Amino acid sequence: MEPTITAYEFSYINQQVTHLVNTYKSVNDPHIRDIVLAETLENLTPLLPNDEPITKAFLQGVKIDFLSRVQAADLIETLIPLVIPFPKLSPKQLEKLFKKVKKLKHPEWGSLKLHELTYLGWNDGGNQKKYLVAPYQDRLIGIQGEFSPQTVKGLCAICHTIGNVSLFMSTTKTSGLGTYTKNGNYICRDSAQCNRQLTDPLPLTDFLTTVRPKK
Ligand SMILES: [Zn+2]
Repeated sequence: MEPTITAYEFSYINQQVTHLVNTYKSVNDPHIRDIVLAETLENLTPLLPNDEPITKAFLQGVKIDFLSRVQAADLIETLIPLVIPFPKLSPKQLEKLFKKVKKLKHPEWGSLKLHELTYLGWNDGGNQKKYLVAPYQDRLIGIQGEFSPQTVKGLCAICHTIGNVSLFMSTTKTSGLGTYTKNGNYICRDSAQCNRQLTDPLPLTDFLTTVRPKK
């Protein structure tokens, strides 16, 4: 079985099922509950591989009366084998993406849920830096920037969700005379959380277009 669901589709599926569970908790009208269930199934079905026993069992599970939070979490877990995980990069591959960084802090691979990652992001708190590895034009690129230790409530440029964000400053142009052009964007402090909120890959691509170094 070849995984076909992307990480951002997986986040979307998760959000949809959470919305359904929340509806069951807050809406008494059975008619409205039926409508929300029908909408959820309509939104999810195109993202799941056809003729796949996991899909069949999952869709059956979603239809359970008053699906609970725990049942929903268990159901979502069953889809993990169908999700394309973020590639685990060797230290060498990673260093190649950040050639200019002298002492690169590596991510803690053991704590990452690769099936939840559309992009990889980690903080080097001591040096107030954030590193990102993300797909861009059919390859992975590495972006580094200064990451403010200050957290504010605001809109994240990557996942387009309101949450705890910090200012990410990247150098987009360096001239021979030692002058820089910098670009600042507010993005989620916690990249794992950001990925769980990321259901549309376009803002990420736009973000990468503005922050990546220009020749
Ligand atoms: Zn975000």
